[in-house]
Amino acid sequence: MSLLVQKFGGTSVGDAERIRAVADHIARTRKAGNQVVAVVSAMGKSTDDLLRLANEVSTTQPPRELDMLLTTGERISMALLCMALADLGVPAASFTGSQAGIMTSSDHTKATITEIHPHRLQEALDQGLVPVVAGFQGMSEEKNITTLGRGGSDVTAVALAAALKADVCEIYTDVTGVFTSDPRVVPTAHKLQKVAFDEMLEMAATGGRVLMLRSVEFARNHHVPLHVRSSFTWEPGTWIVEEEPNMEYAVVTAVTHDTSEAKITVAKVPDRPGVAAHLFRSVATAGINVDMIVQNTSANGTTDISFTVPKVDLVQAVGVCESLQAEIGAESVTFDDTMARISLIGAGMKTHPGVTATMFEVLANLGINLEMISTSSIRISCVVREDVVEDAMRALHTAFELDA
Ligand code: ADP
Ligand code: ASP
Ligand code: MG
Repeated sequence: MSLLVQKFGGTSVGDAERIRAVADHIARTRKAGNQVVAVVSAMGKSTDDLLRLANEVSTTQPPRELDMLLTTGERISMALLCMALADLGVPAASFTGSQAGIMTSSDHTKATITEIHPHRLQEALDQGLVPVVAGFQGMSEEKNITTLGRGGSDVTAVALAAALKADVCEIYTDVTGVFTSDPRVVPTAHKLQKVAFDEMLEMAATGGRVLMLRSVEFARNHHVPLHVRSSFTWEPGTWIVEEEPNMEYAVVTAVTHDTSEAKITVAKVPDRPGVAAHLFRSVATAGINVDMIVQNTSANGTTDISFTVPKVDLVQAVGVCESLQAEIGAESVTFDDTMARISLIGAGMKTHPGVTATMFEVLANLGINLEMISTSSIRISCVVREDVVEDAMRALHTAFELDA
């Protein structure tokens, strides 16, 4: 008998019919002799709707209350799914994140899982029930309800799979697997049979939102077999696998894009040791993640520092920089929230020179200016104008022979 954790994303439980289809799939999985723990997201776009409501009501939105609000979306899904299962004669019980024993840090809206005590889920399994867990949420040490960041139900699923020693964690979504690019932007993208963890981490980190980044990190660290597949066709999808010594890698496996970041430029900063350290320590202390950083060569003893931060943290990050401006002697703090990042990912890059040159040529032929560039051993990212990013993706997808 295998134990499967099955996670169903927002579209997969988007309406009553979809919830009944999911219940039917769980019933079949059980009939085939497996145990199932289900993890559900909020229905359709209901998390966005709740955020909109919060925006209409409040400009301050205390993070504790925002989390309390957002976690209701998943609670609706879990209760409805249990009802649909009951109609099929499948005994089930719903659990909030805290009831499922998911303990988190106290960082409201972006909490991280610190511990899992899944004994109530284990008891339910032992009694022959299907535990249905609300994704995306947990409880802090202070017993406050927290959320794990957008897309966080993926983390819930993987973390529970690790804690319960499940045989596989299945992520059911609205595409048939992990594609060479976002199929909604690049119609010629094709499904990958398997993706190595290293590549999936880079994809998730650069906007390939089919899996949330932290879920991929968690799965790799805890050796959780991960299978991304469709809740519409139920066909086999993409397996995320450990790297094998002789794995054949394509030069470029995927093209991703990310429009969730903004760029801040602190201009004419004195070019001496400690200034950048002071600036970035202050940004980090505010709990803001910095991604790409570019520092120009210095002229007349000053330099410009540009870096990217999540758009949701932009106002706060600009505030931190402005508060330091006089102290560090910078001339100005400006920002740009109309940029996008486009990335090529491929483990084969390590052994194939010329990928960067081809990427730059393709973008140059489209007349696209590169504003920032960063690389890892298996990734190249460029910051470009947001309005040209989708054309750029399609052109790169074709140039690197990824079209189906
Ligand atoms: P869920 O609600 O099921 O968690 P998400 O919207 O978070 O679903 O993730 C699925 C979406 O991810 C797809 O609809 C697709 O548009 C997008 N996506 C982005 N990049 C990729 C990719 N490389 N492969 C597959 N889907 C991708
Ligand atoms: N409902 C949450 C979101 O929309 C969590 C998730 O779906 O994974 O981000
Ligand atoms: Mg998701």
